Amino acid sequence: STPLTCHYITQNDLLKIYKPRQQFSHKGSFGHALLIGGNTGMHGSVILSAETALRSGVGKLSVHSNAITNQVLLTRQPEAMTTNIDEDLSLNLAEVLLKDFDAIGLGMGLGRTAEASEIVSTVFKNIQKPVLLDADALYVISKNEALRRQISPKSILTPHKGELKGLIGDWQTSYEMLDKVKAFSHKYNVIVVVKEAFTKVVCGDQVFINTTGNPALATAGSGDCLAGMITALMAQSYESLNAAILGVYLHGITADLALSQESQESFLASDISKFLGRAFKYFE
Ligand code: AMP
Ligand code: MG
Repeated sequence: STPLTCHYITQNDLLKIYKPRQQFSHKGSFGHALLIGGNTGMHGSVILSAETALRSGVGKLSVHSNAITNQVLLTRQPEAMTTNIDEDLSLNLAEVLLKDFDAIGLGMGLGRTAEASEIVSTVFKNIQKPVLLDADALYVISKNEALRRQISPKSILTPHKGELKGLIGDWQTSYEMLDKVKAFSHKYNVIVVVKEAFTKVVCGDQVFINTTGNPALATAGSGDCLAGMITALMAQSYESLNAAILGVYLHGITADLALSQESQESFLASDISKFLGRAFKYFE
């Protein structure tokens, strides 16, 4: 096994990565992102992703979901656009993807049906740039080696431990886990964000450890928010590794900031967007 070389992410690293908005910028400068998910029973997942994506500086945001999700989304987040009116998300997806989105986030509340596999496959066939894969998109690729081989280079995968097991199998120690993640990252040329307390961002042999955040984040929808944030950063032309590092750092900061006024127990995933404004202030 390879020697373990880890780097703890510091605020200084982030100051180098962070790109201040330029005076003469316009919404086109900050990209158009597409989020795909929020199927029946999990409508809220993609709504949470949308909210944090918009609060993370994306220029424009479209959401590909079903009719009920669209209604709730637009009530809450009128800044978002929708791309589908049908119950089935796979029908017009290829057509939607003809528009040149700057980043795509796929899988939050997508479901584990045949339709979900169809959607993941359609995205892989039509999109050459890096994609963010979360939740059910990870489940779909964990069951399908042929699909795994079609993931665009430098895509970002954001599994929690359970989803990670589907991708790399079981492990005994965290060293073994990281070795397997590194091998996976090399094999498929992707960045893997292992979500836990002290989230690891793995890119080939490089491991970046995030120390922001606390157990307030151990709550439903928390990961969906992270997915929206990283997708928004990719749309703003952060390269994948930097988008992942900046995303996990900011995500953790929101929960750390919340604790100065609130409790871990009462923290909701939707509070992540409430604190994002103050989190970005760290880089000013
Ligand atoms: P998910 O399971 O997809 O909702 O993702 C959970 C998110 O919350 C990930 O970003 C985790 O890193 C974060 N998280 C969960 N538990 C903790 C914890 N104890 N400390 C810090 N972050 C956590
Ligand atoms: Mg999740």
